Amino acid sequence: MSKYPTDPNVIEYLLALLSISDKVDENPHFLTTIKNLQTAHTGESLLPVLDEHNLLTPSGIIKFMNQMPGGFFIYHADEEEQIIYLNQALLRIFHCETLEEFQELTGNSFKGMVHPDDLNAVEESIKQQISHSKYDLDYVEYRIIRKDGEIRWIEDYGHFVHSDEIGDIFYVFISDATEKRQRLLMEQHSLIQSVHAENEMKMRTLIESYDEERRSIYQEHLRRLEVIEGLSVNYESILYVNLETDELLPYRMSSRTEILFQNATSSHKFSHFTSDYIKAWVHPKDRTLVAKVTTPEYIRAKLSESKTYYLNYRVINNDEIQYLQLRVVNVGNTRNISQVVIGYRRVDDEIQYEMKQQKMLEEALNQAKLANSTKDTFLSNMSHDMRTPLNAIFGYTALSKKHLDNSALLDSYLDKINIAGRQLLDMIEQILEISWMESKETQLTETECNLSDLIQEVKMTILPQAEYKNISIQVDTEGLIHRDIHCDQVKLSQIFLNLVNNAIKYTENDGKIDIIAAEKEKLPNGYIVYQFMVKDTGIGISKEFLKRIFEPFQRERNTTFSGVYGTGLGLTIVKNIVEMMNGTITADSTPGRGSTFTVTLSLRAQNNPPAAADNTDVVRSLSKNHKVLLVDDNEINLEIETELLKELGFLVETANDGNIAVEKVSASSPGEYSFILMDIQMPVMDGRKAAEAIRRLNDPVLSCIPIIALSANAFESDKRLSTESGMNAHLTKPIDVPVLLETISRIVPGIIS
Ligand code: ADP
Repeated sequence: MSKYPTDPNVIEYLLALLSISDKVDENPHFLTTIKNLQTAHTGESLLPVLDEHNLLTPSGIIKFMNQMPGGFFIYHADEEEQIIYLNQALLRIFHCETLEEFQELTGNSFKGMVHPDDLNAVEESIKQQISHSKYDLDYVEYRIIRKDGEIRWIEDYGHFVHSDEIGDIFYVFISDATEKRQRLLMEQHSLIQSVHAENEMKMRTLIESYDEERRSIYQEHLRRLEVIEGLSVNYESILYVNLETDELLPYRMSSRTEILFQNATSSHKFSHFTSDYIKAWVHPKDRTLVAKVTTPEYIRAKLSESKTYYLNYRVINNDEIQYLQLRVVNVGNTRNISQVVIGYRRVDDEIQYEMKQQKMLEEALNQAKLANSTKDTFLSNMSHDMRTPLNAIFGYTALSKKHLDNSALLDSYLDKINIAGRQLLDMIEQILEISWMESKETQLTETECNLSDLIQEVKMTILPQAEYKNISIQVDTEGLIHRDIHCDQVKLSQIFLNLVNNAIKYTENDGKIDIIAAEKEKLPNGYIVYQFMVKDTGIGISKEFLKRIFEPFQRERNTTFSGVYGTGLGLTIVKNIVEMMNGTITADSTPGRGSTFTVTLSLRAQNNPPAAADNTDVVRSLSKNHKVLLVDDNEINLEIETELLKELGFLVETANDGNIAVEKVSASSPGEYSFILMDIQMPVMDGRKAAEAIRRLNDPVLSCIPIIALSANAFESDKRLSTESGMNAHLTKPIDVPVLLETISRIVPGIIS
């Protein structure tokens, strides 16, 4: 290896350099360089070190320079940039064994050292830095091409020096920074990698959250679709229409609309589709309307008023008329209506329901009108029918007064007055009964009873009327196996009485009535289904009237016309009772031939074994001389009732109010009075209070004396109040003798045998 230049100039340059470098304290760049050198040597300040080792001689300096681990060179700061000096380390950096090899590689110039691709930038950078640096320092990095061809990275700390003695030079410390750079690059790379990883992580999180959002949007979308699907399930076709472009997007199609879409002209143009649809399906009478409500102008006008509108129309499908509804909904902007959804759905059921409702309403209205007019008719009939017996009463009373001396005539007048009074009473009772039933006050009171007996009793009650018209009444109970039953006897009798009474009323003289009772079915719950028929050979009922025969106030002919007295309430009462007993009633008739009323009832049979048929009338007689306490504040009533009771064979004691009655009972000996007939409304003490007071008497026999209320008030609530006050029965005035006897036989044991 050739030695470094021994040219004394070089030494001079170096010395000059060192002398300049005295100012190292002011030169941070040089200081850094020196520090680098310190690492290689003692670490102390260079100059004292050099001095200490006696190196401040040219050969010492050269030796020192050559021992430096970093490269060092000096070159002219001119165009040529010729190198004046370089140290051993620089040769090593360039992988050169000798100075000659280096000079051959670089042309011994700074220019030749720098990779050609970096040279311009490096020179420019040096120039810039020196011109801006206070200490004429620069730092550059560039590549070099080593002798072995390897490209290395260099760090270059340069110092521009101007001296009059040595001219302009650069002295430069360089080091091979390839590894350092690689390390840096690696670090940078790993930094980038980690930034990448972090970014990737962030990205992944972002993507995941985006995915999650997308999933939930999708779910929401699905849900909305389901909702739309659910809401639109009834729609056979659904179209999305853009009014602006006339474009059509079918969302759902029926067989009806699908066919149209196979037609090329129809598809995707709403106007074409509509006209094809109308032609193909819509009922001729509805075509103009459907065409009108589906024009863009009409749609816009309608949807500017509300979000949706609809039209019901008809289509013809295989000669059958079907009802459809077309509904248009604005799904776009409210100001500029262009996007709409149109749904088509079948509404047959709804229309039918509507029609049915309308019919029902009409019927209800007609019924109401009819009810009103029948009520009017009833009222006028009533006033007429009530006036008739009243006229008779006034008329015959006047006549009686005139003929007081003619007892035969008087007797017949009194009979007529009696009949007229009874008619009036019937009418009042029937009206009351209807109003009880309507107020739902009536309840069934079940007792043990024998069906054959009950029918026979009805027959006996009504027989006089039948005999009057020479009408025969046949009772047939052959079909009964279970005759002993539980039922409300009064109500059941009422059914028969009304039906048989009508049969007599509406049958001409010499006619025939059949009462037939038979069992139809034995139910597992101990009930038997009975069928009762009342047949007559009377005037019959027209088909038209049969339809409303059970309605209140209905009469086929009024009294004036038919001469038959009636109110049109009897059958309404019967039907109400039958229905209360959960039964049915029907009427069948052939005008001029006769009528049949059939009642079907389920009645509870008694546990007794079926009794043999017994059609013999029950003969009862009153045991004589029983004493009755009759309580009433009205003198006339007292007189009439006393006479009546005496007629029946009773001994009668009277009291004018409840207080007197209580006193009389407490003063009586036990058993002295068989029973008490008690009026309700009385001064001093009313009937109920009196009954309560009697029930509180100390004597057990006296306190249990049977008390029968006798009142003008006949509502169920009145009856209940009487029972609650301790009375045994409640009868209405005027006294009905059979009912009184029946009641007495029921509540006063042994009095009638
Ligand atoms: P009323 O007999 O007081 O008029 P109903 O309610 O008992 O009232 O009967 C209503 C109408 O039904 C009678 O007016 C009569 O026209 C008709 N009707 C009832 N029963 C018979 C019958 N057995 N034969 C013919 N018509 C009858």
